[in-house]
Amino acid sequence: MDGRALAARIRSEVAEAARELGSLRLATILVGDDPASQLYISRKHDAAREVGIEPLDHRLPASVSQAELLELVSRLNADESIDGVLPQLPLPEGLDEPGVIATVDPAKDVDGFHPLNAGRLYLGRPTLVPATPRGCLALLVEAGVQLAGARAVVVGRSVIVGKPVAHLLLQADATVTVCHSRTVELARHTLDADVLVVAAGIPALVGPDMVKQGAAVVDVGQNHTAAGLVGDVDPGAADVAAHLTPVPGGVGPMTIAMLLDNTIRAAKYRRGLLAFPPA
Ligand code: NAD
Repeated sequence: MDGRALAARIRSEVAEAARELGSLRLATILVGDDPASQLYISRKHDAAREVGIEPLDHRLPASVSQAELLELVSRLNADESIDGVLPQLPLPEGLDEPGVIATVDPAKDVDGFHPLNAGRLYLGRPTLVPATPRGCLALLVEAGVQLAGARAVVVGRSVIVGKPVAHLLLQADATVTVCHSRTVELARHTLDADVLVVAAGIPALVGPDMVKQGAAVVDVGQNHTAAGLVGDVDPGAADVAAHLTPVPGGVGPMTIAMLLDNTIRAAKYRRGLLAFPPA
């Protein structure tokens, strides 16, 4: 499953939608000077510019107070010219992350982390859905993987990846099992999976001996090791699986493409071109 190719196609569709919609603006907020966060923000800005979405760069020192940060979020919420508001996570220690996420206008919540949008996903009425899980599903659909009735196993239960992926698979009529750090005998579950999504953050957690013959495997892991960037799935699993996403070049590029697509969706909701479901 080639994430780069699919992401490129989605970005060109986003660029076309951006041209049709006219002026689009995505506001990001970076608090502190974490180098990884700075890199992620600059990648998001470059990708946005490339598709005709104007990025607005807001930066605050790590010493900013919660009240000042919320004040900025509220100002961006109220600015009618802005379609998406994205606080870069994680926030520095001492700031109340859930409080910041909950302050973002749900209609501008391009990360899909606001409790209202998370709740809509849970209720089976997805609106703005987190980008990485959307990317996982898009890769499976693109590969023509049968999801209805499939046994799907998700390794990881984070709010950012594991839980939303599980909900999307459930909505696609898969039978879903969610595994996590307290799961006993992980391989018993993974070996049963027609569709396996791994998002644990542990290099080679899933070896070839843990994958069912012919399975579709999505490796979300991004682990920086001495050997470079590696996933959570041993690449040897490709000998057993029918489909496997590479790392790098699998889910990673899809995440940014889906963030851009979420910005288009947010703009369409706010302009009445898509119906935003009632709370
Ligand atoms: P997280 O640390 O929030 O969650 C990890 C999850 O894995 C937890 O739910 C935990 O219970 C589970 N886990 C830990 N050890 C386990 C074990 N031995 N067996 C089974 N489950 C176990 O991480 P996250 O934010 O969900 O990210 C997971 C991975 O995905 C990381 O490598 C991260 O870098 C990567 N990621 C990639 C993208 C992307 O764009 N490709 C986006 C987000 C996260």
